[in-house]
Amino acid sequence: MTEVRLDPYQGRYARRARGMTASEIRALFAVATRPEIVSLAGGMPYTAALDNEAVAAVTTAVLRDQGAAALQYGGGQGLEALRVRLADVMTAEHLDANPDDLVVTNGGQQALDLISRLFLNPGDIVLAEGPAYVGALGAFSAYQGHVVHIDMDEHGLIPEALDDTMAALQHAGRAAKFLYTVPNHQNPAGVSLSMARREALVERAARYDLLLVEDNPYGLLDFKGEQLPCLHTMAPERVIYLGTLSKIFSPGIRIGWAVAPAPIRTKLTLLKETADLSQSNLTQYVAERWLATQPWLDQVARFRELYRERCDAMLEELTRQLPNDCSWSIPTGGFFVWLRLPDGMDSKELLPSALNARVAYVPGRAFYADGSGGSEMRLSFCFPTSERIREGVRRLATVIRDQDALRAALYGDTTRRSSS
Ligand code: PMP
Repeated sequence: MTEVRLDPYQGRYARRARGMTASEIRALFAVATRPEIVSLAGGMPYTAALDNEAVAAVTTAVLRDQGAAALQYGGGQGLEALRVRLADVMTAEHLDANPDDLVVTNGGQQALDLISRLFLNPGDIVLAEGPAYVGALGAFSAYQGHVVHIDMDEHGLIPEALDDTMAALQHAGRAAKFLYTVPNHQNPAGVSLSMARREALVERAARYDLLLVEDNPYGLLDFKGEQLPCLHTMAPERVIYLGTLSKIFSPGIRIGWAVAPAPIRTKLTLLKETADLSQSNLTQYVAERWLATQPWLDQVARFRELYRERCDAMLEELTRQLPNDCSWSIPTGGFFVWLRLPDGMDSKELLPSALNARVAYVPGRAFYADGSGGSEMRLSFCFPTSERIREGVRRLATVIRDQDALRAALYGDTTRRSSS
């Protein structure tokens, strides 16, 4: 019999923390990290492709030349010299930002937390793509925000779906605090917002007086090195833009940033100070020197090439192995493929069989606040080698085909087509 352990502190927690529990999926992930399992689950950047000698040299130089300052407290807005370099990173994305407009945060994740803390009262509505980044959903729910999803297709968020939601909210006398979106190579859907949709979204933001939170970790990881304009460039007064060094340098260094209209930026800086006084000064100095002295755009190109090759391997193997009643997104950058299983097949129910077959993924429901996504899953191609990815997809295909065959035998599923 399973022992049910009650939390003796439950009654003392703030209301917003009472519902916070580790998901069942997290428990399954303990299994997924075993070496025999091909994990297509995690979204970890492939940091082994970094020039570690260069990072070591940069870190040594910081400690040698600027040690006293780097080991000291920093300011709430972040190191000015770093903000200048981060503005250069944005220039590479054709985004023209003033270093004074930036607040440095502990990864993009902290910016999401600070934004939630700044804007959300319990029950406030946040609009987000469906599916949405799980860490953003976690931040919104930690402040008791109520997420309403806007449907996406292969061109990103659907403007007409936003119209429908806005009409329903208006009818109910409700307003949304902001709309959260990842326009470039979205996590988890692996699609980007088309140019026409960007224009449509910005136009609707003005029409509905909506604030947009534009989260852009993957913009520079476009496989062709192309970039569409950021929403921030198109409507700076309506957009809080979030950047991070996690995918183009290192997630361990924990450098992210927010660019926001002045009054919001001031509040974010104050909130940052209450969260942790300041970002680690040491990692800010290291990041600043890395960006100032290393050919970081070459490093980005190396990452881009590596991820492109792994993505190609995944797509090729999916086409070769999966039954043709499955469908998936075709990424043009980033880390993720979004896979739709045959109707009625549940990705969470399938996970134990997948783990038995030594392959892991993230079930789709993790990316929705409303319980949808049951027949979907996220596959990541960023970390395993192409060989391992191919092997992982072969294992997954066997599990899906077995399940398909079982369903056909049990229910005489006539919608099932031949498994190629
Ligand atoms: N936003 C998105 C869409 C992400 O995928 C991630 C990382 N998985 C983050 C934000 C946060 O990354 P970090 O805190 O490392 O900057």
